[in-house]
Amino acid sequence: MPIYLDYQATTPLDPRVLDRMLPYLSGVVGNPHSTSHLHGMEAHRAVERARAQVAGLIGAQPGEIVFTSGATEANNMLLRGAAAFARGCGRDAVVTCATEHRAVLDVVERMGAQGAQVRVVGVDRLGMLRVDELEAALDDRVGVVSVMAANNEIGVLQPISRIAGMARTVGALMHSDMAQAVGKVPIDVHDVGVDLASFSGHKLHGPMGIGAAFVSRASRRRVEALLHGGGQEGGLRSGTLPVALCVGFGEACALAGEEMRAEAEKLRDLRDRFLGKLGAAGVAFDVNGDSERRLPGNLNLHFPGVDAEALMMRVRDRVSISSGSACTAESIEPSHVVAALAGTERAEESLRIGFGRQTTGAEVDEAAEVIANAVAALGRLVYRRAAEG
Ligand SMILES: *Cc1c(COP(=O)(O)O)cnc(C)c1O
Repeated sequence: MPIYLDYQATTPLDPRVLDRMLPYLSGVVGNPHSTSHLHGMEAHRAVERARAQVAGLIGAQPGEIVFTSGATEANNMLLRGAAAFARGCGRDAVVTCATEHRAVLDVVERMGAQGAQVRVVGVDRLGMLRVDELEAALDDRVGVVSVMAANNEIGVLQPISRIAGMARTVGALMHSDMAQAVGKVPIDVHDVGVDLASFSGHKLHGPMGIGAAFVSRASRRRVEALLHGGGQEGGLRSGTLPVALCVGFGEACALAGEEMRAEAEKLRDLRDRFLGKLGAAGVAFDVNGDSERRLPGNLNLHFPGVDAEALMMRVRDRVSISSGSACTAESIEPSHVVAALAGTERAEESLRIGFGRQTTGAEVDEAAEVIANAVAALGRLVYRRAAEG
């Protein structure tokens, strides 16, 4: 298999997480909501232990964690649920940022089509939210402000604490999609001051198909449920919880808490090593997004004059990298994130490269060599075509 350098798309399940999950994938696993017998009680205990592990990683109380199928569902639930309540109080506006994940932008767009007033704040050329634009977008009609903690394409970390303070000033709830940030950089939801946040298991070496919503105790009554049924998760999200997935997500959070600091250092070293190798090979590139305020394992590189799609295809047998944006069968859409800070042309010449827990120095060296060779070959092609044309 090629070298995997797409850790912002998903991360491999940690084998230690799998070990914890296995007992809950075979034999009789009780329904964690049927606690009249020992099977159910044991499943319930496992789920509640996992809930405490998730809460522990982000400084929340276990009762403030609602398990979902992932960050997409959490974003949908929180944005729609909070906006529905806010509308009842005369607040019909939603504020978000141009570089959000599709699982926020598309939800907000849909809410706009159904009558909400949507206000989208831009970013500067480093990918940081324009605080002056946010200031101008905030008034007492705003019910929810949603800004992600770490960007999934360019890795930029937004000043969430400051943004949450501004949202609070106008009485709006603050939501943050934290799927990329949690487990990579230390986060305490109460210190930061968010009311609502979204998380995903498979972005921090847990299983796919599980995630969580953080709903602060104070904002609990200001969020309406989307899924109705058995009244699980305090009535906010009905449905039987997948015990093995919860256990895996919890264990992944516990491991991230213990290892995040050392891992961040390792990832920064790998990233710098990769950049050093590319530079030494004579490759021309710029880094998209702020170079300091970003995730340790993320790079998004602009190769001037090189078509990113062609580059990706050329290295595909050796290295798995992506542009980070949605792709269809035939073509890859230029990233709306890179386009927001640097224009569409630059987006078409940019690629995301993500390092993670399983990445080795040898892999980094090999990937840099493969990519450098491909950039050189494509650059020559462009040069030859220009000469012929
Ligand atoms: C991956 C990701 C999501 C979607 O998470 P799922 O758990 O796969 O639904 C949402 N937001 C961000 C920032 C992400 O990186």
